[in-house]
Amino acid sequence: MEFAAFADHAGEIEAEPADLEIVALVTELFERADDDLATIARFLQGRVFPAHDSTTLDIGPRLCYEAIARAAGKNVSADDVEDRLAEVGEIGEVAASYEFGGQQGLGAFTGGGADGLTVSEVDEELRTLAAVEGSGSQDTKLDILFGLFNRADPDEARYLARLVLSEMRIGVGEGTVRDAIGDAFDVPVASVERALQVSNDYGLVAEVARDEGEDGLDSLYLETGRPVQAMLAQAGTVTDALEAWDEAAVSWKFDGARIQVHYDGDDVSLFSRNMEDVTDALPEVVEFVEANLTAPAILDGEVVAVDDEGDPLPFQEILRRFRRKHDVAKAREEVAVELEAFDCLHADGDDLLDVALPARHERLVEVLDDGVAGLWITDDPDEIAEVESQALDAGHEGIMLKNPESTYSPGRRGQNWLKRKPDVETLDLVVTGAEWGEGRRAEFLGTFMLSVRAGEEFEPIGKVATGITDEELAELTDLLEPHVLTEDGKDVEIDPAVVFEVGYEEIQASPTYESGWALRFPRFLGVRDDKNPEDADTKARVERLVEDQ
Ligand code: ATP
Repeated sequence: MEFAAFADHAGEIEAEPADLEIVALVTELFERADDDLATIARFLQGRVFPAHDSTTLDIGPRLCYEAIARAAGKNVSADDVEDRLAEVGEIGEVAASYEFGGQQGLGAFTGGGADGLTVSEVDEELRTLAAVEGSGSQDTKLDILFGLFNRADPDEARYLARLVLSEMRIGVGEGTVRDAIGDAFDVPVASVERALQVSNDYGLVAEVARDEGEDGLDSLYLETGRPVQAMLAQAGTVTDALEAWDEAAVSWKFDGARIQVHYDGDDVSLFSRNMEDVTDALPEVVEFVEANLTAPAILDGEVVAVDDEGDPLPFQEILRRFRRKHDVAKAREEVAVELEAFDCLHADGDDLLDVALPARHERLVEVLDDGVAGLWITDDPDEIAEVESQALDAGHEGIMLKNPESTYSPGRRGQNWLKRKPDVETLDLVVTGAEWGEGRRAEFLGTFMLSVRAGEEFEPIGKVATGITDEELAELTDLLEPHVLTEDGKDVEIDPAVVFEVGYEEIQASPTYESGWALRFPRFLGVRDDKNPEDADTKARVERLVEDQ
């Protein structure tokens, strides 16, 4: 297809406000495409390379302005282009405002004017440009770019400029391309969607849909070395998780950076959250994977920077390691990193995207000898709190809650992964009761009844049993025992004397407790030695907090 025809079509799409019409226009474009179908599918989204390929054109705006200026003729400078951009606000509009053609220069077509530049030629030239390296590379890039602009008419120049700066913005999102592939080649959208998830390449999927149909799409699999988009999480609470799924798969939320590990049996590649290849920056992770991964696999996880004791360092440290291109050996001495793998997308020939989380985790345990993050499946808020306090004690951020029945959805920020929101507020509450523990905790008081201040009285608002270590239980028993008023079996009434600081997720109206309110997911944070019962939080504050919820 001529690039002019592509530009013409892109113009029509851009001018079309209705989504369905946009899909129809893209469908038509796909039907008209030839050998260049894959390129067109990528260009429409402002891409030269597939999403999984982190090759970039590495063209800064200034280089683009210089190319435009050179193609526009002697009297135009890059500064003029920049000034015009400041007026017009969009590079495509600026490029389209010049008359190109006929400017002499390296790589230029000297006949001048629009001359049947094709989509494939633009693609080839831009790929050549992306591969240019070393000294003088900017000049060579400028020559190639100038050569392209010099052959472009205004409409072509508009979309060429946007393409090279990755700012296509014609309203064609991923969903549009997916639907148009389905319509153009008569294949189910679900097959297109799945194929896109595993291949991460709209160009490839369009071609396979056209040439091999639904069967072809269904036979596309994950490939080691070709990253997929990471599954993402929403903020949520333990209450949300247990209400939605009955039980939750809980793991530590590591304070590091997302990493996707690919191992084909020989080589390891590592990709960041945005699918950049970071293999060279993290040689110790490569060595670790080589030593511990026993089969070809694709793993999802987090890399964490650690200090000499193995305790996590702030995640900026790991990002610094990602960015490091030179002196990696030195950087490695300065900041050690560790892998915490929490998911498995592919193991030993099996794609696992459609497999439920616990089974994926089992495969992870099978293939990776070390560095596997724990996964606890439970419906017990206390156990969840226990996992959370371990994570916090280990210096990590908290917990992730995942739907145990969920499959792996690349690129999705759905309801199936929740990052537990940190507590917004805490309450200082008076201990007015407790229960003697059982088994190994029989000697200790536990499950403490907490009360708010209501005038001269103290009214119960909930019980806390979580977030307390055995050591703390022993201390709390010593602290509270002198204040015990009455005992009835395991139940103990306690004279208001000790104030706990407590975290919670939510306050709910409740007939269970005298205050009329109940804390959801309360956790013990510490004893407020500095506070007396009369300094504890009041019911009025609780009611204000409820209003703010
Ligand atoms: P997001 O990645 O969701 O866009 P973000 O980069 O700001 O957001 P957070 O909101 O803090 O990160 O949390 C999500 C991130 O937590 C994940 O992308 C992943 O890097 C990290 N993470 C740490 N531990 C886990 C885990 N066990 N399971 C999933 N993700 C985890």
